[in-house]
Amino acid sequence: MKTIISACSNHLKDWFLLQRRPLPWRIDPTPYAVWVSEVMLQQTQVAVVIPYFERWMARFPTISALAEADSDTVIKMWEGLGYYSRARNLHAGAKYVVEHFGGILPKDAEALSQIKGVGPYTVGAIRAFAFRQKAAAVDGNVMRVLARLYDMHEPIDQPKVVTRLRGLAEELLPEEEPWVVAEALIELGATVCGRRPSCECCPMRQVCQSYAKGTCEQLPKKAKRVAIQKLFRIVAIIQNAHGLLLRRCEEGEIMHDLHEFPYFDVESGGIDRAVVDASLPLSLVWQYDLSPVEHAFTRYRVQLTPMVFHCASTDSVAGYQWKRWEELPELAFSSGHRRILQAVIKQGITP
Ligand code: SF4
Repeated sequence: MKTIISACSNHLKDWFLLQRRPLPWRIDPTPYAVWVSEVMLQQTQVAVVIPYFERWMARFPTISALAEADSDTVIKMWEGLGYYSRARNLHAGAKYVVEHFGGILPKDAEALSQIKGVGPYTVGAIRAFAFRQKAAAVDGNVMRVLARLYDMHEPIDQPKVVTRLRGLAEELLPEEEPWVVAEALIELGATVCGRRPSCECCPMRQVCQSYAKGTCEQLPKKAKRVAIQKLFRIVAIIQNAHGLLLRRCEEGEIMHDLHEFPYFDVESGGIDRAVVDASLPLSLVWQYDLSPVEHAFTRYRVQLTPMVFHCASTDSVAGYQWKRWEELPELAFSSGHRRILQAVIKQGITP
């Protein structure tokens, strides 16, 4: 145990200072920049996050600017990143910080925890990277590294194991520059000790217990397996003289606040125009089909089969809105439906 602790302070720190990636949120790790980047990085790869982070910070450079923005603008800036509750929580959190802390993130863990969407990991990250406090930030990367360093075979998705891992991470932090080791653990998990570990270039190889026992590939263990559900949907792109028929997803739906074309769940992939005709009170003229689009969100894998229709009527349809083509760039779409819209535009059916 002592060997691992001292190796973390020395080898890991040296390795990190030499190898760390030049990420935009590391240039000036203000509390707000750390908060935004850490929320974006949850469930999302660094390469995807970088352009979103840069656009976000240009559009909302301060917590006050974010708090003052309207929710449509916030969701539009998040469009394509997925897990939109993160954007809504950031927005609500910014309003809370303005109201309760004068627009400045507090330094202590208890006050930070009161902010919507700021969980133990984000609290640790803000304290360590922005305020340079002795605090561990334990995300999935760090849990994987720790499970291997200590050759832990208990499932890391069990609350008592998570608590133990947090304790181990805190023990590894040295008194001097603890934030460097806190960030180095994350970097090691993200770049070297990934799902398939590259032990041959790992600074912790000499002290890693799972490397010594040959168990790296079996760890970490998880108790729960998320069952992936396959869905098939017919997507109707309906155009009239006004524009396109869309619906804005409502509160309680996964795609809350995002726009989508009318869609209908069917049993399996394939063409079924009758479903569309039977589900909408409109007289439609089928024009053509587009290639299916595969779309994944949370635990779903969806095959979207788009069909393009023309509609002579301009009557309103309950639950939907006719949107003019000029309005579309301002609207946020779910990723799958955004790709369908791009395919429609490419086909040139726009007026
Ligand atoms: S030696 Fe391998 S398993 Fe151990 S910490 Fe390094 S990369 Fe991970």
